Amino acid sequence: MDTTSMQNPSAGLPAEGHLLIVGAGLAGYHVARGARLTGHVGPITVLGDELHPAYDRPALSKAFLSGAAAFEHLVLDDPENPLDVTWFGGAAAEHLSAFPLGVHTSDGRFHAADAVVVATGAQACRLPLSGGATFVLRNIDDAMALRSRVIENKRIAIVGGGFLALEAGATCVERGAAEVTVAAGEDYPGTARLGVPVGQAVRKLHERHGVSFAPASRADSVRDVPSGQELVLANGHRVEADIVICAIGATPATSWLRDGVLSLDPTSGAILCDDTGFTGMPGIWAAGDCAQWASQASGLRPVGHWQEAVEQAGILSASLTGTSPAPFQEPYFWSEQYEVKIQAAGRISHANEVRVVDGSIETDDLLLSYLRDGAEVGILGFNRLREVKRWRKQRQIRTADVLVA
Ligand SMILES: Cc1cc2nc3c(=O)[nH]c(=O)nc-3n(C[C@H](O)[C@H](O)[C@H](O)COP(=O)(O)OP(=O)(O)OC[C@H]3O[C@@H](n4cnc5c(N)ncnc54)[C@H](O)[C@@H]3O)c2cc1C
Repeated sequence: MDTTSMQNPSAGLPAEGHLLIVGAGLAGYHVARGARLTGHVGPITVLGDELHPAYDRPALSKAFLSGAAAFEHLVLDDPENPLDVTWFGGAAAEHLSAFPLGVHTSDGRFHAADAVVVATGAQACRLPLSGGATFVLRNIDDAMALRSRVIENKRIAIVGGGFLALEAGATCVERGAAEVTVAAGEDYPGTARLGVPVGQAVRKLHERHGVSFAPASRADSVRDVPSGQELVLANGHRVEADIVICAIGATPATSWLRDGVLSLDPTSGAILCDDTGFTGMPGIWAAGDCAQWASQASGLRPVGHWQEAVEQAGILSASLTGTSPAPFQEPYFWSEQYEVKIQAAGRISHANEVRVVDGSIETDDLLLSYLRDGAEVGILGFNRLREVKRWRKQRQIRTADVLVA
């Protein structure tokens, strides 16, 4: 489907119309907030399958998992000044109806709407198991289950080499794990996505904290053995552990939409949208990790990052209420591992060259520049908060303008 050329007949939801948001997460919360901030006075309903109030996820693999942050610190709504929104928790959306417009939920209700925003996020990928149970980290229940386990003096196997996996590994080290072994598809995790210096620096950072890396391979299965669990890799390597944490990515939570009302990406299952979040189906929009906006499909914008979900929510709610959306900022994401804050800004996936500008892969102060045909398109820093902040400030212009320049 060519989403770039779609007309948007739904722009300007009537100010008193009913806005129904499916998914009480980051994007869902910010769509509701944005709609109120841009003058929507009609009812707003948010449907969520979780029983908790909407919360922020990044701390689940960091401060919440380590015990430094409580759930109250993650809650998105301001208890002193709550949004004027009706929340329905504990019932999953099961069917999207285009005519009449609305959503059927698992508790048997039908929620009629004048506009529906799908913001159901993503769900954690899991390993095919043969026996053993593993932990994942996508929602607060996952994080609470892992947080309540004794980590001290235990052997931990981490499956996956993304930042979420490595954050979980770092948190386990900080909680006194006896051994942490990372089983990833790359010897130097992050190399394919962020370049050789990042892969090397990240591995060295973890090795300095005593983490081991299994020979690069796809993980095959986990099974119970007398001494605990055994993670079996496709290359035949085995890792024994007391706890296995599986962080091998997430897929859009769109299985409830597979009845054909919306166009889904055939590979990822993400909802295809234009760059306002409009799906092409009158009255239906989508944002956050469940969606693939046109600029993401073309590789201009990343998927699965916090800033992306918040920006999309702002643009979408402005489009719904007929106000001018703020322009896209440069893509941005961050990670925290031990005492190191890694931040990346810009169109890193477009770079064809990466240069070390300052610092070293041996220390925690690396600064990298990403270039495409000699022109800088992105920056990544280890504990380089000032430089990354300055770069982002200087580049607060539309992505489209950057491309033209
Ligand atoms: C552990 C963790 C750490 C992260 N750390 C970082 C980080 O350091 N930096 C960064 O940039 N990004 C990070 N992210 C990514 C960021 O948090 C996500 O991109 C963001 O949460 C996406 O928001 P969302 O609203 O699309 O999805 P979510 O926040 O996942 O919200 C979706 C909501 O919809 C609900 N839902 C799903 N299906 C249904 C249904 N059928 N009916 C009703 N409700 C449904 C879900 O239960 C969930 O409550 C992290 C993510 C995780 C999981």
